Amino acid sequence: MAINDRLGLKAMQVSRESKSDEFVSIVVPCFNEEAGIRELLARCRSAASDAVGERYEIVLVDDGSADGTWRAILNEMDAHSDVIGIRLSRNFGHQIALTAGLSAVNGTVVFVLDADLQDPPELLKPMLRHMKETDADVVYGKRKSRVGEGRFKRATASIFYRLLREATDVTIPVDTGDFRLISRRVADIIARMPERDRFIRGMVASVGFRQAPFEYDRQERFAGDSKYPLAKMISFAIDAFLGYSMILLRFASLAALAMLVVLCVVILYSLYEWLYGRVIPGWTSLMIIIATASFFQLVALSIIGEYVGRTYLATKERPLFIIDEIRRSAGERDLPGD
Ligand code: UDP
Ligand code: MG
Repeated sequence: MAINDRLGLKAMQVSRESKSDEFVSIVVPCFNEEAGIRELLARCRSAASDAVGERYEIVLVDDGSADGTWRAILNEMDAHSDVIGIRLSRNFGHQIALTAGLSAVNGTVVFVLDADLQDPPELLKPMLRHMKETDADVVYGKRKSRVGEGRFKRATASIFYRLLREATDVTIPVDTGDFRLISRRVADIIARMPERDRFIRGMVASVGFRQAPFEYDRQERFAGDSKYPLAKMISFAIDAFLGYSMILLRFASLAALAMLVVLCVVILYSLYEWLYGRVIPGWTSLMIIIATASFFQLVALSIIGEYVGRTYLATKERPLFIIDEIRRSAGERDLPGD
């Protein structure tokens, strides 16, 4: 019986595949990437054959593209047998497209890549080696440099990752995108997590196991423009903060604390003024009532915030814990219930 059944808890236990003969699934979400598909596949193929021979597949997810992306994927499928094409019914966004890809993999390790070749597929081999050497379940690409991205993008990304690091409980590595190599069991856990506002790098970090960084230089986009305009970047950042910290909800508690200080000052000051008869009648009581009322309102809000926050996190139905392995000492023993 699984330990989680026994404990009656929502937990996940996943077994680890043997790492000796990897089968690599390359997952690429594509949104209006028609111009780059050919080059992408050519480079993925040569990188994969170099690393694992024939033992790979390429899962392309068309995230409701409006251009000829799907046609380009179909063309590739006609010419080669290593492609799995998934077409979403509309544009669901990068993170959901990626999840769709993760849920369709057959491999023992999963290589997550952007369609624009900013993250070089050729790193598959060294990353696989790094995974073996460090015995890690996740090898995440850490950007040493970002070529061809504007100052604004680099600055906002840098601030975002650092703020997020301060705000969250799980350690989400800085300067890290979705470019990574993950074991199948981690991919399965992520694909099975039912939360709706998905921030995959946070989800991967929260899964645990051993996670090793791999430094690389981020390249320029091969073709087309960034599919992350400012509005999408902001909504992405909001997903990250809302999903991985209660910091915004805790704002009311902080405000209540600040209000308590204001309240004390106001009471002391208005009483002092009143004692010396320097105030218009009614001012003292008015000030005290206003400050006290605001304080209690903020306290009430922060209590509600705490309940809402906990309910919100509970609706995400994240596993309470994830078990790496269970071992039992050798020899037969009678266990109650067996
Ligand atoms: N993408 C997607 N759906 C979207 C937006 C982007 O599948 O709604 C894909 C896109 O095709 C690319 C990856 O997500 O493969 C990253 O997007 P992009 O390169 O535009 O982001 P940036 O590198 O500029 O942050
Ligand atoms: Mg890109």
